[in-house]
Amino acid sequence: MTERSFFDEGDLVAVLTTQPLDRLLDYKAPEGGCFLGAFVEVPLGPRKVIGVVWGPGQGDFDRAKIRSVIRVLDAVPMREDMRAFLTRTAEYTLTPMPAMLRLATRSPGLGDPPMMRRVYRLGDGTPDRMTDARRRVLEVLRDYGGLAFTLGELAEMAGVTTSVIKGLVKQGAVLEEDTPRDLPYPRLDPDHAAKALAEDQAAAAETLRAGVAGGAYGTTLLQGVTGSGKTEVYLEAVAECLRKGRQALVLLPEIALTAEFLTRVEARFGARPAEWHSGVTLTERRRCWRMVGEGGASLVVGARSALYLPFRDLGLIVVDEEHDTSYKQEDGVLYSARDMAVLRASFASAQVVLASATPSLESWVNAEAGKYAKLTLTSRFGEAILPEMRAIDMRSETLPSNRWISETLAGAVRQRMEAGEQALLFLNRRGYAPVTICRACGHQIGCDHCDARMVEHRFLKRLVCHQCGETKPMPTECPSCHAEDRLAPVGPGVERLGEEVTALFPEARVAVLSSDLFGSARALKAQIEEIAKGAADIIIGTQLVAKGHNFPLLTLVGVIDADLGLQGSDLRAAERTFQLMRQVAGRAGRAEKRGEALLQTFQPEHPVIKAILSGDEEGFWRAEAAERRHAGVPPFGRLAGIVLSSPDVQAVFDLGAEMARRDAPLRRIGAQVFGPAPAPIARIRGRHRVRLLVKAEKTAPLQAALTEWAGQFRLPANLRLQIDIDPQSFY
Ligand code: ADP
Ligand code: ZN
Repeated sequence: MTERSFFDEGDLVAVLTTQPLDRLLDYKAPEGGCFLGAFVEVPLGPRKVIGVVWGPGQGDFDRAKIRSVIRVLDAVPMREDMRAFLTRTAEYTLTPMPAMLRLATRSPGLGDPPMMRRVYRLGDGTPDRMTDARRRVLEVLRDYGGLAFTLGELAEMAGVTTSVIKGLVKQGAVLEEDTPRDLPYPRLDPDHAAKALAEDQAAAAETLRAGVAGGAYGTTLLQGVTGSGKTEVYLEAVAECLRKGRQALVLLPEIALTAEFLTRVEARFGARPAEWHSGVTLTERRRCWRMVGEGGASLVVGARSALYLPFRDLGLIVVDEEHDTSYKQEDGVLYSARDMAVLRASFASAQVVLASATPSLESWVNAEAGKYAKLTLTSRFGEAILPEMRAIDMRSETLPSNRWISETLAGAVRQRMEAGEQALLFLNRRGYAPVTICRACGHQIGCDHCDARMVEHRFLKRLVCHQCGETKPMPTECPSCHAEDRLAPVGPGVERLGEEVTALFPEARVAVLSSDLFGSARALKAQIEEIAKGAADIIIGTQLVAKGHNFPLLTLVGVIDADLGLQGSDLRAAERTFQLMRQVAGRAGRAEKRGEALLQTFQPEHPVIKAILSGDEEGFWRAEAAERRHAGVPPFGRLAGIVLSSPDVQAVFDLGAEMARRDAPLRRIGAQVFGPAPAPIARIRGRHRVRLLVKAEKTAPLQAALTEWAGQFRLPANLRLQIDIDPQSFY
């Protein structure tokens, strides 16, 4: 029997709403009928809510009492592959369907009628008088390269009153016009400016092109050191997708990377693609969501949630820096965008390209097993080669207290400066100092709501909790013993390292790059561009700089504490450290000069450090894979993390113990429960946290067993139970 795809007026339809209900609701189809998948507005009690027609009604209610759909919204009905994808993601991540639908309807103004709107864009005129406010308006318009905004949006972005904009309109410096609400994006030309590819690049591009041309599902791991041309290669797959008239999606792990990427897309295809992430204006987000559905957007560049856009005909998904931990959503719906990209593509008959210099062990194993195809780019494009990597053995360096840059490293930095080149000092710690201690009583200042230390941020002149974001001014007396002026910072953050660098190199221009030091993604982008052009001699950075920015003058990378990531009990600690160190080292010598990477470490004989230094990637993956296989953990076994949290500490421990005891549904599938144990961060935002861990064999029906298991328990008020399938972090 084929599914019914249209319902006449008065037919019963089952509607999935975004409201937290555990079932579909029956309604009568409205006047004019509606399609399966239609976005509709329906009455729910006294309210009107948005939903999607999910199938024929169940009819198990008194028909006379069933209300009608209020109206069908002006949006393309949700397609079958999307409905299947949402259903499957919900099953896999144990997420209720309404929450999935909320992810898929993140379009502002979805219910609004189509109409004209008045917008403002850059004009040719020059204002008679330039004020600060006027300059800001023009700057915003220039920054967004020709985009138009509504009056309200523009005023807010520039921080001016609307009369400032009206004034500029009178002078012709800003144009006022009426446009249809959402315009299609300009056409991208696949043959606009193709680059001549090197031999191995061309071969890889050809394979990807053939895959896209074939029009079936397939996943390829595209591996190659930073600078080997992975982006150039996958842009050829995008070109092929455009030629076929299908849509492409490129996922990037970090908003700060999009600007540079959009410029490259524009150079390659002659126009800018659609953009989807939290930094995009509401108007543009609404346009993107609609145009993706109508086929007026052929390429979307975005963050992980772009996977839930209503693509009309998705032919390719690229996941750039596929190993990046930010692809795992840690809030709300807990999903891995990398895995969901593969799932979405399989429903859409699309190709997936996972690009990385240092793939995740999961993808590496899938490629080894033949589930994914694998393409490797072996050399850097042009002359540049991987930097030379060496350890600095910190056991034989003598450092005065509160100093972290060894003499060896300082000497290397000095040499680079004298040669007119840049050096990067990497420390993955934001703020000034990770710990503030009272020298009178030994008290360490902690957050009032979390089981975490407060981190001093001198730039903000405050203490900040990196768990909950709570801040407070730096106290002058100890909160515990009330001694005056005895509080002292312990350990380095990037801000403190900045002080050390300035003391060591008073003549150097120093830039500290940390996500919290910039008000906006735009300010950060501007700063990065300046630095890339040579505006700094020494760059100090956190993880942020490891992610794909180009610094052509950079020839030395110094890692302040290579041991940092090796501490802790995280299953992926070794993998993460390996990836991060390789990525950071890859920042050096991207142009024509050979770079050098120096790793300060107290354990140069640690297997991970040795693997990083020797560059024996395959060896590292093989060893790591063997270890995980032996332990039966991902990707060879399956894990689910369970976090119970509540303001009531007794309640979480009681329930945790009960869950561990009544584990029959798990034992039936051969799974084991570990815990309950206090979570590594035992309290966040005033909620006490207890963890359990479930471990199962790879093929065991884990989700069904977890559902049955968790379903046995009654949750006390205010207790939250969260299940994280394939957890990436264990805090
Ligand atoms: P990756 O994505 O592997 O880090 P990119 O694609 O960003 O590498 O390439 C690194 C740099 O080399 C970029 O500036 C890119 O434009 C340039 N490049 C790579 N391949 C070519 C090519 N075939 N022709 C011209 N420039 C290239
Ligand atoms: Zn806190």
